[in-house]
Amino acid sequence: MTPAAVAGSVLAPIAAGGALLYYACSVPASQMLGPALVRGPAGGRNVVLTFDDGPAEPFTGQILDILRRYQVPATFFCCGKNVARLPDLVRRAQAEGHTLGNHTWSHPLLYFKSRRTIEDEIDRTQEIIERVAGHAPRVFRPPYGVRWFGLFPALGARNLTDVQWSDTGYDWKARLDGAAIARRALGKLRPGAVILLHDGREPREPGKVDASTTVAALPAIIDGARRAGLEFVPMESFLPDINAREINRDRQGNQARTRSGW
Ligand SMILES: [Zn+2]
Repeated sequence: MTPAAVAGSVLAPIAAGGALLYYACSVPASQMLGPALVRGPAGGRNVVLTFDDGPAEPFTGQILDILRRYQVPATFFCCGKNVARLPDLVRRAQAEGHTLGNHTWSHPLLYFKSRRTIEDEIDRTQEIIERVAGHAPRVFRPPYGVRWFGLFPALGARNLTDVQWSDTGYDWKARLDGAAIARRALGKLRPGAVILLHDGREPREPGKVDASTTVAALPAIIDGARRAGLEFVPMESFLPDINAREINRDRQGNQARTRSGW
C-alpha cells in the first residue's frame, strides 16, 4: 500500500467513528445516547414554545408580558446561576403557569465531562429551582443540545426527561433582527414542533446579554403560528409519561390559562 492508502485505511474508520459520535452527541434529533423528546404528535395542530438560557433582565420579564397578553404557555429552561441572580423572574414564570426546566448551572458543553460534573450541574440547578419555585423540574435540555456519556443515566436517576427541539428562529445569531428570526421560526413550523428560542444568551456575562431580537420576534411568531392554525400547548401535552398534575400541583389558582384550559 502507498503511504496515502495506509493513512486512508487508518483514518477512514476514525473519521466514520467521529461522524457517528458527532451525530450521537450533537444532532438535536439524535436518540443514540438516550431517549429525547424532539417533537410531539404530528397529527394534531399543537406546538410547544421553549426559551433557554434565562432568566435575564429585562428580556425574561418582557417575554412573560407578551406570553400573558397572548395567553401562550411556554417552558423556560433556566441556568441555575441565573436563577440564583434573578429568582423573582422564575417565581413569576411559575406563578403565571409556565413550565420550568433545567438547563444546567453554568451552561457548559458536556463533551468529555465526567458523570460527576454533569450530575453536579444538574443537581445544583434542580435544588435552586425547587427552592425558588417550590418544585424541581421534570424536563432537562443540555446546553447547545449536546449529550454526552453519563448524561442519560444521570437524568434517569433524577426522573428528568431530555427535551431537544425541532424548530428554531436561530435567535442567538447576532446578525438576525426580529423579523428575520420570526421568518425562520415560521418557515418550517409544523404540527408537533418544539420551538427553541432564548430569553438569555449564555455563556455571555449578564451585562452583555441581549435577547431584544427574540422579544421583537415573539409576537410575530405567535401570530404567524396561530394564522397557520397551530395552537400553543404546555410541554406536558407532549410528555404523557409526566403526570401533568404533578407538575401543575403548584399552579392551583394561577391566573394564566390557555384557551384549552390547561
Ligand atoms: Zn443554552
